[in-house]
Amino acid sequence: MEKVKKNIRHLTYDEIEAYFDTLGEKKFRAKQVHEWLWQKHAHSFEDMTNLSKPLRQHLADTFTFPALTIDATQFSTDGTVKSRFRTADNHLVEGVLIPTDERKTACVSSQIGCSLSCKFCATGYMDRKRNLEFDEIYDEVVLINQQSEKTYEKKLSNIVFMGMGEPLLNYRNVLRAIERITAPDGLAMSPRRITVSTAGVAKMIRQLGDDKVKFKLALSLHAANDKKRNEIMPINETNNIKALIDALNYYYKMTENEITFEYILFKGFNDSTKDADELIKIYRQVPADLINIIEYNPIDQALFEKPDETAIHQFMTHLEKNRVNARLRRSRGKDIDAACGQLANKS
Ligand code: SF4
Repeated sequence: MEKVKKNIRHLTYDEIEAYFDTLGEKKFRAKQVHEWLWQKHAHSFEDMTNLSKPLRQHLADTFTFPALTIDATQFSTDGTVKSRFRTADNHLVEGVLIPTDERKTACVSSQIGCSLSCKFCATGYMDRKRNLEFDEIYDEVVLINQQSEKTYEKKLSNIVFMGMGEPLLNYRNVLRAIERITAPDGLAMSPRRITVSTAGVAKMIRQLGDDKVKFKLALSLHAANDKKRNEIMPINETNNIKALIDALNYYYKMTENEITFEYILFKGFNDSTKDADELIKIYRQVPADLINIIEYNPIDQALFEKPDETAIHQFMTHLEKNRVNARLRRSRGKDIDAACGQLANKS
């Protein structure tokens, strides 16, 4: 039986070193290869030009190197860049570069499709094919960073896990990707500039607390009572608002990291003053820094609508009057289906 080749990026530094030892190669080979894998962003063994050709061939015969490639790129009139990435086993997944004057943010995906079926989200209408591996998530960040340098002559300043998939249902890979993104021998970014956004998996929010992570957490709330939230986010049936409030308090007690709420406004569904009051009640029970109020972006599959400007204004004013730290987030990249909730691998 043919031996199954291992992905070289799933080896630790020590394992790479041990491997070269078995070949009778010098120790510094491990450093060279590790640099190619995590800092010089090689996409194949052929790229590793400071290794001899026979050694590159030997590596290629022994290991796989399934790097992500860019399949298509779309540019929005507002500067947003959406990329469709292709995995080595031919799946497609999307990531977005969102530029502002102060920030260059990468919005990355953690799964191919999503199993949570939120009613307002295009990804929720796709099947979940599989989790992304940590090296694939890392590639998304690297490729979007290269786009940022090329288009805006600036490196990424922020990363949000708000693309396709539920990051906390791919916990191990998301945390390993963040370890590589923040490692000095990786991309060396600050964890404070990374936000993981969840639809609300209470058990895993607690796990983040136990693991004492350093990045920020965002909870996609979108409805402020269980009845409404069950209607648009089926995960609420097993992870209700009370369970999420408790989990967020535990997370904060363990990490003291910033927490934000995300709340998309849907016309006639969650945009009344009564809804705002229920939202304020939840906000008061969690040490949250901010509520991001998000403009809804219509998708073909769902019947929701965006509220008119007066309703949005009234909702925001009500929050402000009650001293809630809330910010209205206008959508970016709508013309290329790159805005929040619109990612679905469309051409
Ligand atoms: S909003 Fe997030 S968790 Fe919900 S279906 Fe979309 S990708 Fe999945």
